Amino acid sequence: MNADQPMNNEENALSNSTAPDFPPLQKGTLYLVATPIGNMEDITLRAIRTLKDCDVIAAEDTRRTGLLLQRLGFRKPLLSYHTFNEARRENGLIQRLKEGKIIALVTDAGSPGISDPGQRIASAAIEAGLRVESVPGPCAFIAALSASGLPTDHFYFLGFLPHKSGQRNKSLTSALACPGVVVLYESPYRIDKLLHELQTLAPERNIVLARELTKKFEEWFRGTPAELIEKTSKRSLKGEFVVLIGPSDSNLPAIDSD
Ligand code: SAM
Repeated sequence: MNADQPMNNEENALSNSTAPDFPPLQKGTLYLVATPIGNMEDITLRAIRTLKDCDVIAAEDTRRTGLLLQRLGFRKPLLSYHTFNEARRENGLIQRLKEGKIIALVTDAGSPGISDPGQRIASAAIEAGLRVESVPGPCAFIAALSASGLPTDHFYFLGFLPHKSGQRNKSLTSALACPGVVVLYESPYRIDKLLHELQTLAPERNIVLARELTKKFEEWFRGTPAELIEKTSKRSLKGEFVVLIGPSDSNLPAIDSD
């Protein structure tokens, strides 16, 4: 297939995996592979090929990844790699990479290393002089920021806030002082608490709640903390949320006059 020729279907693209446009996977490389955050159509052709051609998949939840592979129509050796065993797994994975094995790392959803396991093994592999590559794709906070309507040129990604009130308050207060949009992940059980915290700390800010992105019940809420408390008070909040906090007039990013 040459570069100008359109790809008719996924099969076509996959069957050409050794064509110059699609170089084979490199031995001894750790691939961090992004997977869908809801909609299965969001898996990339490269992610499929990487999962198919690697030697082993390190998965946050082997059962869940097994189901993904079932949908994709192939099997691979899986080993578990999650927050509670990542320290123990490290030496074994590094050893396999040194032996030339190709490892694909996936989490339950989205991009590995983003509020998910992945960063630790990526650092260890780099430290050991090994090759680490990203197979980019879905990421909840990027999806939310991109369609939020808020300025996207400066943002501060916080991940999950601490649960303890003191640490939460400190973390939120310092984030709110940053120029641009503050983006964070929050459990549906703490959205209401967060909106009340924002009503105190940032009552005038424009807040966007992105719920169940790419899924059947995707939904967006926009308004000040008080408006969102009002909007969400009449219903129980379920599902997954990204929270975006718009900048205040005083912390809009500086605009280059040139
Ligand atoms: N690594 C993932 C990524 O790239 O986005 C994030 C993993 S983190 C453990 C899970 C959190 O991401 C959820 O609690 C929620 O805040 C956010 N999230 C994941 N999928 C989402 C979706 N479809 N819609 C909204 N938020 C989502």
